[in-house]
Amino acid sequence: MYLDKKIKFTSVVIPVFNEQESIDELLQRTISACEKLECDYEIILVDDGSRDNSAQMLVDAANAEGSKVVALLLNRNYGQHSALMAGFEEAQGDLIVTLDADLQNPPEEIPRLVAAAEEGNDVVGTKRMNRQDTFFRRFSSGLINRGVQKATGVMMTDYGCMLRAYRRHIIEAMLQCHERSTFIPVLGNSFARQTKEIEVTHSERAHGESQYSFLGLINLMFDLVTSMTTAPLRLLSLVGGVIAGTGLFFGVLLLLFRLLFGAEWGGDGLFTLFAFLFMFIGAQFVGMGMLGEYIGRIYNDVRARPRYFVQQVVRAPNTQQSTSED
Ligand code: UDP
Ligand code: MG
Repeated sequence: MYLDKKIKFTSVVIPVFNEQESIDELLQRTISACEKLECDYEIILVDDGSRDNSAQMLVDAANAEGSKVVALLLNRNYGQHSALMAGFEEAQGDLIVTLDADLQNPPEEIPRLVAAAEEGNDVVGTKRMNRQDTFFRRFSSGLINRGVQKATGVMMTDYGCMLRAYRRHIIEAMLQCHERSTFIPVLGNSFARQTKEIEVTHSERAHGESQYSFLGLINLMFDLVTSMTTAPLRLLSLVGGVIAGTGLFFGVLLLLFRLLFGAEWGGDGLFTLFAFLFMFIGAQFVGMGMLGEYIGRIYNDVRARPRYFVQQVVRAPNTQQSTSED
């Protein structure tokens, strides 16, 4: 086995965006779950530019004597996945566990994730058994999961669940990726040799609403698709070919009917032609939109702006102040 099996240090990374109602319970449950681990641990909470009291609560938690909580404050909202990346940069564990702050993922599962990683898995995913989300969310997520399976060949059934564990070398690999549109579970899996999926429970959001709007979800979906594959781009030519072929076929058919049945028929057929024309215009727009999705992301990457700026790192007073790599 190429991995050192025993985990010596676990980092839990949690992105937080306007979650003040959940933080107390989250910390308490996460800490008591981590206390059950045989190894040492740290809990890194990344405040993704919250506008409520979250950041202050995190700082207070980190400042407590002997606290294993690290508060990382970003200077504005960069999105869940960028916040996770910021947390990864700071994490020192040889295993990194990610988790949502809204308590939809039970922190009590952390020891099981660690145990699964110790079996020699690079990435441990989870499958939500009784998913508590809207039908739309579950439906789109089902489609996406199937797409990801096809494109990556990694047979995980639930990419949307953020309760996951990654070994150090997977995190290092992810940190080498400088693209701005990332979807961490897919990125992580693309570097994994051996993965495992365990079943976990899923709860309803305890407080507030999902931070993702409808458009936000669409954007996330495109992030996922474009980060994973350029297949839609290539599919475009295929679809275009099929449409052009059908257009030609109907054009010939219309011409034939006109010759056989006279000009009036052709005149009426004009409207059919219009219908097809609109169809093609529509198809072109779909194609152009798809191009736009990629080009927009290429543009962002070409600008190569830093993915985020850490404003402040707060560690407990009695732990060593370390911001450099060990
Ligand atoms: N989150 C974040 N930045 C954002 C949006 C969300 O850090 O811009 C965090 C949020 O606090 C939570 C996690 O990402 O811990 C998942 O968010 P949410 O529950 O809204 O997503 P859903 O469960 O609906 O996918
Ligand atoms: Mg949630």
